[in-house]
Amino acid sequence: MGVHVSAHPLIQHKLARLRAVATPPPEFRELVAAISRGLFFDATHDVKLRDVPILTPLMQATCREIAVKIGLVPVLRAGLGMAEAMLQALPESSVWHLGLYRDHATLKPVTYYNKLPAKPDMDLALVLDPMLATGGSAIAAIDILKAAGTRQVKFVGIIGAPEGVEALRAMHPDVPIHLAALDEKLNEMGYIVPGLGDAGDRQFGTV
Ligand code: URA
Repeated sequence: MGVHVSAHPLIQHKLARLRAVATPPPEFRELVAAISRGLFFDATHDVKLRDVPILTPLMQATCREIAVKIGLVPVLRAGLGMAEAMLQALPESSVWHLGLYRDHATLKPVTYYNKLPAKPDMDLALVLDPMLATGGSAIAAIDILKAAGTRQVKFVGIIGAPEGVEALRAMHPDVPIHLAALDEKLNEMGYIVPGLGDAGDRQFGTV
């Protein structure tokens, strides 16, 4: 309930290449973008539309356009590639960058960068992080968005661990989760397995 794992063959095809250790950063970024666009379509399947008059080369027609304001909330830095792809798909979206790190002593997420507007007037915010590992960052990001008054929040990631999905569902049961894959588990280092390694390092060539 509330967890959507895409079974789309194109997404699965691209995910296989994304996971491969031999895939270099330029291709990795393209794959993140392609998968993110697919997941963006999934996550926005229910947004409201309104009628709009359009003059086609043949006649006046009544068409439909998106009637809601969408905020893309990439969790820095791994979420950046996802936000860029979604912004290209829907350039009217706003982007709210959110930087979180895990404090070594408390193991709690700490916000080091927050570019949310003081009063967000968005109808739907999509929290973007390719890896839903422990769920700590996702939960913290959603806490911040809800405290700021965001009306509807969804989480979009590429790979989730059962531990992260469970933690996020427990803290925010109203937030749908959209993923390309739900993997086996987290290992003792906090990596998702089989996973793809460090999504930030692999996008930005910092391995
Ligand atoms: N973050 C990553 O980039 N990869 C993982 O496997 C877990 C968290």
